[in-house]
Amino acid sequence: MKKLLALVLCLTGLLTPSFSALAQTPTVSRNRLLFNSVYPMGEDEVPEDMVTLYSLSIVVSLAAIQLDREAASFARAMFNDMIDDGITNYLVVSGYRTYAKQQQLYADKFASYQASGYSDSEAEVLAKSIVAVPGTSEHQSGYAMDISNTALGGTLSGNVEQSAVGQWLKENAWRFGYTMRYPKDKTEITGIVYEPWHYRFVGAPHAQILQERSLCLEEYVSLTKEEGRTITFTDAHGLSYNIAYADTLPDLDLMKDGVIVNPVAQEGSGYLVTSVTHNPIKTPLRWN
Ligand SMILES: [Zn+2]
Repeated sequence: MKKLLALVLCLTGLLTPSFSALAQTPTVSRNRLLFNSVYPMGEDEVPEDMVTLYSLSIVVSLAAIQLDREAASFARAMFNDMIDDGITNYLVVSGYRTYAKQQQLYADKFASYQASGYSDSEAEVLAKSIVAVPGTSEHQSGYAMDISNTALGGTLSGNVEQSAVGQWLKENAWRFGYTMRYPKDKTEITGIVYEPWHYRFVGAPHAQILQERSLCLEEYVSLTKEEGRTITFTDAHGLSYNIAYADTLPDLDLMKDGVIVNPVAQEGSGYLVTSVTHNPIKTPLRWN
């Protein structure tokens, strides 16, 4: 029963898999939905609580690669599950990236196009399509990582899609709160080229909804914020979710167990409020 409760709490996104913080009152999640060119991060914004993936025995190309603590815990569970399925050659090659590092990557890409004979404006358009402009990369949030495999020498290319790692992630990452952030059929909406290696932690139930309805995060926000739609959703464990946009934070009495609040982006951009209820009559949970 204790295990079940932990599972339920974990699925609602109120706890990390380590169950270290048995907080009764959830606060607004640090994990906002959008980090993109419309909602960039400031130069000084640094994630609050990160860990190295190496410290969690996740296979990385550099021991210094860091991710948000909660995202990292779920990543560990995800890779363990992948290994249980017989796929062992994954390799995480990128996680948290500073603003300065992103600035350097962008400048390098811009310079390479210039050197190839493109004009400044052409080089800018091309560079922007490949490397996120500083402040607009999800890597600065600490919630995104790039996953390749050792057979590809850790390179990031379309080959990731065909690999066992890429295929597995595409089908299973949502179970661990991760979403393939820049799908092939959404490049016009995300403004980012297809990246079968880039996975972003958004937590439950968002990742499952994105997967089942083939939505990217921009569409998800637009559906709830611009169109004012309420999303209702029941998962395989009998947890029912009611997700709606709110301009301002709900009353504090509503901020109880079973409510997850994700900011859309920076302050003033509103919130996605997820109410979680368990319906034991329609979908009984079994724990024996
Ligand atoms: Zn990436």
